[in-house]
Amino acid sequence: MLDTELNVMGKMLHTNLGVNDEGHLTLAGRDTVELAESYGTPLMLMDEARVRMRMREYTETMREVFAPGSMPLFASKALSCKEMYRIAHSEGMGTDIVSCGELYTANSVGFPMEKAYFHGNNKTDKDISYALDCGVGTFICDNREELYALSAQAKDRGITQRVILRVTPGIDPHTHEAINTGKVDSKFGTAIETGQAMELIKELLTLPALELVGLHCHVGSLCFDSKPFIDAAHIMIAFMAAVREQTGKTLTVLNLGGGYGVRYVESDPEFSIPENLRLVSAEIKKCCSANNFPEPQILLEPGRSIVADAGVTVYTVGSVKTITGYKSYVSVDGGMSDNPRYALYKSDYTVLNASRAAAERDFTATVAGRLCESGDLIGEDMLMAKPQRGDKLAVLVTGAYNYAMSSNYNRVPRPPVVFIAPDGETRVAIRRETFEDVAKLDV
Ligand SMILES: *Cc1c(COP(=O)(O)O)cnc(C)c1O
Repeated sequence: MLDTELNVMGKMLHTNLGVNDEGHLTLAGRDTVELAESYGTPLMLMDEARVRMRMREYTETMREVFAPGSMPLFASKALSCKEMYRIAHSEGMGTDIVSCGELYTANSVGFPMEKAYFHGNNKTDKDISYALDCGVGTFICDNREELYALSAQAKDRGITQRVILRVTPGIDPHTHEAINTGKVDSKFGTAIETGQAMELIKELLTLPALELVGLHCHVGSLCFDSKPFIDAAHIMIAFMAAVREQTGKTLTVLNLGGGYGVRYVESDPEFSIPENLRLVSAEIKKCCSANNFPEPQILLEPGRSIVADAGVTVYTVGSVKTITGYKSYVSVDGGMSDNPRYALYKSDYTVLNASRAAAERDFTATVAGRLCESGDLIGEDMLMAKPQRGDKLAVLVTGAYNYAMSSNYNRVPRPPVVFIAPDGETRVAIRRETFEDVAKLDV
């Protein structure tokens, strides 16, 4: 394949994409059109080597630059399934889970519970009880009511539960409003700025059966630089020093959350996780010495940056409709039921005609799903080689928050998730739903 032709299909977006001699899009060296023909469409493909590479960028760099005991936790809400917990475990990652359904899934494949961190801003008494039954290592507590409920249950069981408290450092990471959660005005955590976080910590330290080890914050999502993390680290370490001064308690763990970005479109910047972690580490060291505070263990919760660029969704084109004087619509056999992100956030995606991946992308269209909802779009003004009925259309970078957010709207069965192993073998990690699956809860 000539370089110019590769550039035409946007190979520069991620290095695991290519074009083969038949002009088909490849992912991890496998022909996506061939895989779509054998597994059917819609089809969600995951490049396992890419997932492992991203995990190692975190595990290896964090081991190198942060205090001993520092660890990345896979934010499993990005793609929660048994296979992802197996892979995360085999790569030495911890995991962040946000519900008992995720917890159940992780536990069912033997994910070590001491490396599970339980999030959520409204854990019910049942959730707390189930998580304690499972032996979850650490609760990331959000609010006062949760602390009291957890303290009571842990006391009844005669255990001491390890806890991290979620606080809001008051940072606006200049990202999408709906995924901007580090600000003071947030449904998550307790604000430092208002003095409420300090009050809550003082109260927490008096509660029985809880051991507060550290603090958590999460500044947002899709960050293409480390400024929000560095700003957060400054505020958090200064606050940890203030906690030591006011309570005598030295907290040893600082969880800076997730949020590193991934290139979805060519205009997104290139981004290196190791380089950015080094920048954050240097600032943390400075900050600790300025506050005369011992360097805490750092936890990070990457979700998107672990799985997003490993994923490609392949659809079959059903129709290409040009409304005279307006625009063109390309309809595919999936949509907001497997990828609701455009409908939710107007998220950017790159599409490719996987069947003609070397052809020039000279056709602009709105890519529409098959669901009965006019907002069911994958994207607007998307550039691609003009498709015809039967062509395979690939949406790139769909590994995060696609399957995880999928639904059975219109009683459309969910697609399968197929992993491509480093040796090129494929395996079904989540099978395609049947109509019986879709109706299985109806009585
Ligand atoms: C969503 C979320 C993450 C993961 O964010 P990414 O942008 O996918 O890295 C991590 N931690 C918390 C608390 C979150 O809410």
